[in-house]
Amino acid sequence: MRKYSLLLLLLFVLNALHAQKTLLHCGQLIDVNSGRILSSMTIIVEGKKISDVVTGYTKGTGSDKVIDLKKFTVMPGLIDMHVHIESETRKGATADRFIKNPVDIAFESLQYADITLMSGFTSVRDLGGSGVNISLRNAIAAGKVRGPRIFTAGKSIATTGGHADPTNGYRKDLMGNPGPLEGVINGASEAYQAVRQRYKDGSDLIKITATGGVLSQAKDGANAQFTVEEVKAIVTAAKDYGYMVAAHAHGAEGIKRAIRGGVNSIEHGTFMDDEGIALMKEFGTWYVPTITAGKSVGDSAKIPGYYTDIVTPKALATGPQIQSTFAKAYKAGVKIAFGTDAGVYAHGKNWLEFVYMNEAGMPVLEAIRSATLSAAELLGVTNQLGTIEKGKLADIIAVEGDPSKDVKSMGRVRFVMKDGNIYKGE
Ligand SMILES: [Zn+2]
Repeated sequence: MRKYSLLLLLLFVLNALHAQKTLLHCGQLIDVNSGRILSSMTIIVEGKKISDVVTGYTKGTGSDKVIDLKKFTVMPGLIDMHVHIESETRKGATADRFIKNPVDIAFESLQYADITLMSGFTSVRDLGGSGVNISLRNAIAAGKVRGPRIFTAGKSIATTGGHADPTNGYRKDLMGNPGPLEGVINGASEAYQAVRQRYKDGSDLIKITATGGVLSQAKDGANAQFTVEEVKAIVTAAKDYGYMVAAHAHGAEGIKRAIRGGVNSIEHGTFMDDEGIALMKEFGTWYVPTITAGKSVGDSAKIPGYYTDIVTPKALATGPQIQSTFAKAYKAGVKIAFGTDAGVYAHGKNWLEFVYMNEAGMPVLEAIRSATLSAAELLGVTNQLGTIEKGKLADIIAVEGDPSKDVKSMGRVRFVMKDGNIYKGE
């Protein structure tokens, strides 16, 4: 009997020693820490994690698996800090909230999650939906369906009539009076209740709509909709749960109130003025620009009947402005994290943001850092994600060509690995 268990132990040890490794032979490898491109490198993956990164092409032992990425440029899995994974724009989508059940939303979101992952985005931050985004996060994490790792706000928080009030534009008898449970607050005490409800729902972070927005059925797309006290209450409550707070904000006043209230990031930031830029730097607030969404809603608004009459003028005035605000903020030294507002345009085209950031003056390698290391910083997960280093999760992608020479190569993703599993390019 004793002999038998010793034999088992020996087998176990031998098996552990010979655990299969995956060796990725990388023609070019982007080091987002230094902003340099290294050539002829091997990444060694064991289980979910990167166990080493070495110079040259290592062969490994017999049972190891070698993936040839010598023709490609390899980089950390990309992170989009602003998506809405539950939905996608289309003409006349305004009626969806009256005809779609959560189950319809769930089935549709599966394809958006899939195309996002296959485009090289191995993690996303979902900044607001119905709550289906929480179940989708869980299903993906459990390996039941395919998609990026999701950090979700669940349902966004607004004030009455604000951008994320779910009954904006409804007929009076349908409006009701949504409250903290539905993500509508007025005053500090309701702010606490709404944050605690998000915790109960299973959100990973908090999203507020600090100003009006483009696609809500309301007149003003930029007015301030939270007091500084309300923002502070949200941020204070959020800290109790280890939550970051992201603030959707277009207008200059609402942007400043959100920064002063202590949010971690300003989303869109469309009409940010010089004082706002100075405050961003003073408070160390991140800017998530979403240029792609701005351009896309501006284009869609030109198609007759695409949006309702109350939305169209806002889309035309707001959308095209974001790229120049980004250029100004970047030049001024504001911290930038990559985010696109996918869903407001077609999922899977997230890479276009690299083109627009580059057009506005940001070198491609810096834009890639904003979508990897910087994004991981804003998520608070640099110990796990954002770079290709020993001990981190094996979220790795490869593109055809050299993005530092041709930004469009970010749209030619040929290999996707998440958590050590290969989803594309085996
Ligand atoms: Zn958004």
